[in-house]
Formats: sequence, structure tokens, C-alpha cells
Amino acid sequence: MIRKPIFAANWKMNKGPSETEDFAKSLLSKVQNRTFPCDIVIAPPFVSLTKAAEILGNVSSITLAAQNCSQFDSGAYTGEISAMMLKEFFIHYVIIGHSERRSIFGETDEVINAKIRKAREVNLKPIFCIGETLEEREGGRLEKVLRTQVSEGLKGLSERDLLDTVIAYEPVWAIGTGVTATAEQAQDTHAFVRSLVAEQFGADSAAKIRIQYGGSVKPGNAAELMACPDIDGALIGGASLEPQSFLDIIEKGAP
Ligand code: PEP
Repeated sequence: MIRKPIFAANWKMNKGPSETEDFAKSLLSKVQNRTFPCDIVIAPPFVSLTKAAEILGNVSSITLAAQNCSQFDSGAYTGEISAMMLKEFFIHYVIIGHSERRSIFGETDEVINAKIRKAREVNLKPIFCIGETLEEREGGRLEKVLRTQVSEGLKGLSERDLLDTVIAYEPVWAIGTGVTATAEQAQDTHAFVRSLVAEQFGADSAAKIRIQYGGSVKPGNAAELMACPDIDGALIGGASLEPQSFLDIIEKGAP
């Protein structure tokens, strides 16, 4: 297979260090001595990364992600964490441009592009989130919205940087709502996103980049969604907060 699927748990603002310890110990007991045909990534809040690394750091198929990074290097940016600082945490990935960052914290495509570039400068792999609102989809603006998000977000990346980036297509109307895109809707949109990457970077890169689906993925819908040819894993919010449910999604969705 040309693209290795990637399943990532986005815990959002859930689980401090002690709950992270419980989750990580439970997950460890279930995955120890197993190998997986996919990458597994967990994105706890910043303050819980050390605890997660302590317990899961030696599990070869599991790596850690941060949920955000600054677009700046260092200095007077109260409350921010730089990509370089994250690099010290033994983490590999960073989620950038999640719809909650866009809608609640006002992140623009330009800021998101700057964050992706900062992440790549220190060799962190961005999980770059894109997706349309229901109003945009119903108003016939799906393709325009995604075209802008992809072209602006990935602007200026080298091919190497592109291929170390994962795109997470997450229709905003499916995030945390219990409503999932149908497999057909998701596949069609993933194929469209891949075609956008092809326009910008060429067909070869487009065939190699991983595009995850996110939005109310659960054990019950993972197999159908992950069977789609252009879907390369999932970014999972609510259903990743419980170790067995996260593992069930991986087991049902991984090839
Ligand atoms: C997310 O926040 O990235 C997400 C996909 O959430 P949920 O799985 O809860 O819809």
C-alpha cells in the first residue's frame, strides 16, 4: 500500500496528567507486544504530554501530537507554545488549523500556513485540518472553501514538507455532533481534496499524501469510512477519550 493509514486521537481540552495516566496505562495493557499496520497518534493537552510520553514512549506504533503550536519562534506571546518547544517533548505531530481554532480563536488560513511552516522548520509533522460548515456545503460553496483552505494552508511548502504533512478533512457539521458524512460524501470530498493537492504539487505527491477523515468517527462507522480508497485513517475526538473505543476504531478501520 502506498499510504499508511494514520489514526489520531484529538482529546481537545480533556484529560489532565492523572486522567492521561489512567488512559495510557489502560491502552498500554491492550497494545503491548502488538504491531499495527497503521500509525497511531495521541494528542493530549500540552500539560499531559510528559505523562503520556512516560507511559507510551516505548510503544513503537504510538506517537504523540500537540494540538496546536505558535506561528512565532519565541518572545512576548503570552500563553503560546512554539514548535521548537514541542520538539523537546519527543512528539512527532502537531494538529494545526482545527475548526475550533479557526472558529473560536480566529485562526486564518494565513496564520495556519505560518504555523505549518514553523512546524516543518523543526521537523514536526503537521496534521492540517480543513473542512466546510453546513451552510457552506448547502450553499454550494464546498469546493471553493476547500480550494482556498488547501491552497493557502499549504502555500510555499516543499514536496518533502508536503509529504510529511497529513491532511485531516473534517466537515465542521460532523465534528462532535454525532452526524457523520456518509462514506460516499466523504470519499467524494477526499478525492476532490486529493485533486487540489495534485493541481498544486503534482499527481505523484497527491497520490502519496495521507488524508484522514474526521467528524463523529466511532467503532460503528469506522470500517465503512476507512474502506474508501481516498481515506487514509481518522482524526477522532469524542470516541478517542476511552481506550477501548479508540482501539476498536483502529481495529475496525485499519486494513
Ligand atoms: C475532532 O475534533 O477533530 C473530531 C473529529 O471530533 P469528533 O470525533 O468528536 O467529531
